[in-house]
Amino acid sequence: MTIPRRQFDTLIIGAGGGGLRAALQLSRADTHVAVVSKVFPTRSHTVAAQGGVNAALANVRPDNWHWHMFDTVKGSDYLGDQDAIEYMCRTAPRAVYELEHYGVPFSRLDNGTIYQRQFGGQSMNFGGEQAARTCAAADRTGHAILQALYQQNIRARTHFFDEYFAVDLLLDDEGFILGALVLDIASGEKLVIEARTTLLATGGAGQIFRTNTNALINTGDGMAMALRAGVPLQDMEFIQFHPTGIAGKGMLLSEGARGEGGYLVNSTGERFMERYAPHAKDLASRDVVSRAIVTEVREGRGCGPGRDHVLLQMHHLDSNLIKKRLPAIRDMALTFAGVDMCEAPVPVFPTAHYTMGGIPTNRYGEVVVPIDHGPEEPLPGLYAAGECACVSVHGGNRLGGNSLLDIIVFGRAAGNRIIEYLGENRYHRPLTETVLEPSLARLARWEQQGEGESVDALRQQLTKTMEQHCGVFRTEQVLQEGVEKVLSLQQRLADVRLRDHSQVFNTARIEALELENLMDVAIATIMSAQQRHESRGAHSRVDYPERDDVNWLRHSLYHKENNMIDYKPVRMKPMSVESFPPKPRVY
Ligand SMILES: Cc1cc2nc3c(=O)[nH]c(=O)nc-3n(C[C@H](O)[C@H](O)[C@H](O)COP(=O)(O)OP(=O)(O)OC[C@H]3O[C@@H](n4cnc5c(N)ncnc54)[C@H](O)[C@@H]3O)c2cc1C
Repeated sequence: MTIPRRQFDTLIIGAGGGGLRAALQLSRADTHVAVVSKVFPTRSHTVAAQGGVNAALANVRPDNWHWHMFDTVKGSDYLGDQDAIEYMCRTAPRAVYELEHYGVPFSRLDNGTIYQRQFGGQSMNFGGEQAARTCAAADRTGHAILQALYQQNIRARTHFFDEYFAVDLLLDDEGFILGALVLDIASGEKLVIEARTTLLATGGAGQIFRTNTNALINTGDGMAMALRAGVPLQDMEFIQFHPTGIAGKGMLLSEGARGEGGYLVNSTGERFMERYAPHAKDLASRDVVSRAIVTEVREGRGCGPGRDHVLLQMHHLDSNLIKKRLPAIRDMALTFAGVDMCEAPVPVFPTAHYTMGGIPTNRYGEVVVPIDHGPEEPLPGLYAAGECACVSVHGGNRLGGNSLLDIIVFGRAAGNRIIEYLGENRYHRPLTETVLEPSLARLARWEQQGEGESVDALRQQLTKTMEQHCGVFRTEQVLQEGVEKVLSLQQRLADVRLRDHSQVFNTARIEALELENLMDVAIATIMSAQQRHESRGAHSRVDYPERDDVNWLRHSLYHKENNMIDYKPVRMKPMSVESFPPKPRVY
């Protein structure tokens, strides 16, 4: 039976902030845009972002984009590409004002300007006093942004395919991306979406870890689709562990809590961050705070009967401030930890939060691939933006508030670049049946029942292995064992059993496809971690405790073919200012 087809100028896979910002740019320029999302758009993970979005507006304290750039380069542990970082920080105020004009109800100061809170790693004057750079809509910033962008897209007549699952990119012999094969989740029907340009905006892959802050849907599908299309993944060893997940559960209590004056204490009641980061204390960069918490627990100063967490204390603050600025976080602590933070401290422990690595792009959102292991060139027709991409503005460690910024700045930039490409490439290239074959073959596997363990059981083993073998502190032996385990789990995929066909067939198949993607992304992550013999940003090797700029100031590129890893230089040269050379990173 032939598979139905639809044609668009641009296909956007993912309806989070990254995908919707790009879609808006395109629809407003009268291009014919399809957005595919496996959940209803406003349920994308962007909705969960609490703390806010960074821009040097200087509404609360003096600020400028150059200080923001310095903080981002330092926060990245010098692995971020400085041209992209400059572009992001310079564009930030404009991107935030655009959001304001789209209808995002930012919290306000008494003088009517946008409220800005303090976040970790922010400074004035290139490393001086704490800055206040994070624009917030109370603690529901992502929710506000996503709703506003969705409404604007409806107005601009973007075409939505809600609850459609993208299976694979479609690639012709000459290396052009021609769109994607997708499934209507409700009916299981296949659909080919042909497009002259395709943007991946599928978000992060936090679900490769058991304890994480991410939505269940964050399974790294776009990253795995890119791998299958021959695109390597960059810097996958850099996973951000957020210091303040609710202990044992993983849900996030935003850095905004510490930004508003909260702090961490250990079992002796000591405010221990003063020892690890004398200057920035609780607002040191996230990797620094996460390592400090794990160290406190390992050295026996953890709290609770199991001595396995520390406490986030807020109740010394005015409870009206908590209720006004952090209402959702207070609710979250009440629901999941049974604690009212206006009255008592909340048990917290680091939790997997953000994927710094991803699909390599330049600052125009074009996906770039090395040609014969030499210089990189854009892959024609393919773009990526948001958490699935690696521009790289976050390098080894992302600063809080810089990810919402990343998605709106580079979503917008990718939209603009696509408009140029469409002007130069007016016709669809032919999409023959052969182009569909590899993905149809993959799908056919999931039309049969395997004899082995269930999809769910295998997924649990995978996420547990990643947690145990690729966590906050890493060593060669633990990583090596982890690599072997994950590779053997991947072998077992071939036999995996779907949930009973008679019950919920379509979603069972989607879960299997997601598991395949999780496997690929987990392997990229743990193998890249094993091979990086230094400590930088969130990648902390006990056996290589120092940063090594001579050998390792470079991006990793994991290729699915033969699980090969190679490296490429960091773009140290900004667009218009002097570069920030690597320095010891102290807070
Ligand atoms: C709890 C939490 C709080 C956060 N707080 C902040 C914060 O305060 N400030 C900040 O800067 N950052 C924050 N972040 C990070 C930030 O929110 C995310 O990095 C960002 O929103 C990601 O946006 P995105 O558009 O890339 O992807 P997402 O919003 O994750 O959207 C991904 C989209 O892709 C779609 N998709 C995925 N796979 C498929 C498929 N196979 N087929 C079809 N569709 C698919 C999904 O349906 C979804 O629409 C937070 C993250 C979390 C988890």
